[in-house]
Amino acid sequence: MITKNSPAGPPATESGATLRARGLRLTTPRRIILDVVRATDAHPTATSVYRRVRRRLPRVSLATVYRNLRLLAARGFLAERADAGGMRFDGNTLAHDHFTCLACGRIYDVPPRADGAARARLASRTGFEVLDHRTEFYGRCGACRGPRGRSPVKGPTPVKGHRRR
Ligand SMILES: [Zn+2]
Ligand SMILES: [Zn+2]
Repeated sequence: MITKNSPAGPPATESGATLRARGLRLTTPRRIILDVVRATDAHPTATSVYRRVRRRLPRVSLATVYRNLRLLAARGFLAERADAGGMRFDGNTLAHDHFTCLACGRIYDVPPRADGAARARLASRTGFEVLDHRTEFYGRCGACRGPRGRSPVKGPTPVKGHRRR
C-alpha cells in the first residue's frame, strides 16, 4: 500500500502561533500581508497587495511586501502563480484549479480536476514520473456571459473555414 504523504501547505485558517512554530517570525508586515491575501479570492498581484497593506502600514515599501510574499509562498502559507501580467498570489493553499475570464480578466478558483487519466497518459507517453498537474480553464465568467454582458473575448480567434479540403 502506498501512503499518501502530502506536502500540502498549512490550512487557510492557520494562526500566528503556527506561523511561529514553522520557524517564520511573525512580524507585523508579514501578518498583515497574509491577512490581505487571504481576505480576497481575487489572486492579487504584489502591487495590489502592497496598496492594501499600505492602508494599515503606511511606511511599508513595495520591496518589503514583495519579499515577504515570496517568503510566505516558499513556506507554503500562500501559493504563487506566474501569469501573463506578472506574479499573482493566492491565499487558497488547498488543491484547486483556476478559471480565467478572458473578458474581465478575473481568476476564479474551481475544484481540482480529479481524473488521473491525463497524468497516466503523459507518463506512459514520455516516461516521466508525473507527480502533480494543474488544469487552467479559460472562457467567460457568469457576469460576462450574461445577455447584456457580452464583452468580446480577446482570446485565440477561432479559425474560419476558408481552408477547406
Ligand atoms: Zn468575467
Ligand atoms: Zn486560486
